[in-house]
Amino acid sequence: MAHTDVIVLGAGIVGTSCAVHLAKRGLSVALIDRGGAGEGTSYGNTGIITGETLFPPAFPDWRALLRVALKRSPQVNYHLGSLPRLAPWLAAFAAASRPSRLIETARVMRPLFARAVAEHETLAVEAGAERYLSRGGWLKLYRSDEAFAAQARELELAASYGLDAVPLDRDGALALEPALAGVFRRAVHWTAAVSVSNPLALTRAYAARFAALGGVALSGDARTLHRADGHWRVETEAGPLDAGDVLLALGPWASDVLDPLGVRLPLAVKRGYHRHFRPRGNAALSRPVLDAENGYCLAPMEQGIRLTTGVEFAARDAPPTPVQFGRLLPAARQLFPLGEPAEAKTWLGARPCFPDSRPVIGSAPGQRGLWLAFGHAHWGLTLGPSTGRLIAELMTGATPFCDPQPYAAERFTR
Ligand SMILES: Cc1cc2nc3c(=O)[nH]c(=O)nc-3n(C[C@H](O)[C@H](O)[C@H](O)COP(=O)(O)OP(=O)(O)OC[C@H]3O[C@@H](n4cnc5c(N)ncnc54)[C@H](O)[C@@H]3O)c2cc1C
Repeated sequence: MAHTDVIVLGAGIVGTSCAVHLAKRGLSVALIDRGGAGEGTSYGNTGIITGETLFPPAFPDWRALLRVALKRSPQVNYHLGSLPRLAPWLAAFAAASRPSRLIETARVMRPLFARAVAEHETLAVEAGAERYLSRGGWLKLYRSDEAFAAQARELELAASYGLDAVPLDRDGALALEPALAGVFRRAVHWTAAVSVSNPLALTRAYAARFAALGGVALSGDARTLHRADGHWRVETEAGPLDAGDVLLALGPWASDVLDPLGVRLPLAVKRGYHRHFRPRGNAALSRPVLDAENGYCLAPMEQGIRLTTGVEFAARDAPPTPVQFGRLLPAARQLFPLGEPAEAKTWLGARPCFPDSRPVIGSAPGQRGLWLAFGHAHWGLTLGPSTGRLIAELMTGATPFCDPQPYAAERFTR
């Protein structure tokens, strides 16, 4: 029977980064996916490595909620039929959106975010992938003074953590991004963020680095995971593979494996779409921009300008309903000269989310040798490599670089 020290299930940015960190510590590691590295959720994000993130998106206030309910919100869409099943998750999300809880979330997530850029830069250098990273930060644009003023608390907190957020007036932002139209009033330049011009290529480069370290990539279905002869076993296209330790990094698909094992965690998905557009004429963007009130981002990618949407609450596998584009496109075209779409179809992904907007990183309750790294919500690209470091330290018994307790699965099972 083939045997390896560790099997990593899922080759998204999280699983691939974890596999690299484990291989670097001298373990024999197999990285198993049913597709290619980085082709899941990690394919289609906005490409922002936002190490300065503080507050997660919060449950909307009643005014915003009314717009959502009436399906007039550009930020949020939902499938009515999914709501009964989502109700407990939404209630927990609303509770975690209270101001005191948001500040607590910012505090406990800080160590992971604080290391995010440095860990990516190290991996990117090792993987020869620096050309995909650009160090221009990102811009949040506010069309009204009211929306800008609502950020005051976050800016104060940023200052208290020593994070660099530069408030700008319209001209200041236009000096950074001259192709934008001045349809906004204020902006904040989060200067330390790094943007990625091709998230798929970045994950593939990290996967190549894993292979160069002696790691083995295999094709297989994670749902075949079971215990046999005192080990964990997964069926792969190369035959069954055993390991003493398994790390589950399946992002939005994690429950497919955990539920049958009796490990029930409150994972839901916030779906999101993207589409690439060719810019008109010579128009270009140097960094991603968020149109705050409209909830979409425009990001410069190798494929064109990537327009990514906010959130859709729906079953993970329900057919795509990209209605948000209809609500967003007029605002996006007003802001930036978007030309023709670069492809015929929209891309749909599913952000894996826990209601407290923290990932689960650590051991699986009641399952010896099973480890978890998923649920990174809006920040899986950002947090993949720092998660990789933390889980590799935990799995090898090294001193973890931060307190892992806030990310423990037991917070849901106690
Ligand atoms: C529109 C949008 C914009 C975003 N923007 C950003 C951003 O700017 N910055 C940021 O940090 N994050 C962003 N995110 C979030 C980020 O993309 C995700 O958090 C991240 O990609 C999750 O990575 P992952 O490795 O956990 O999951 P995935 O990338 O989904 O990887 C899971 C892997 O598991 C595999 N798999 C699933 N089931 C099986 C099975 N049965 N057998 C074998 N393999 C299986 C899949 O094939 C996949 O490769 C965005 C997300 C969306 C949707």
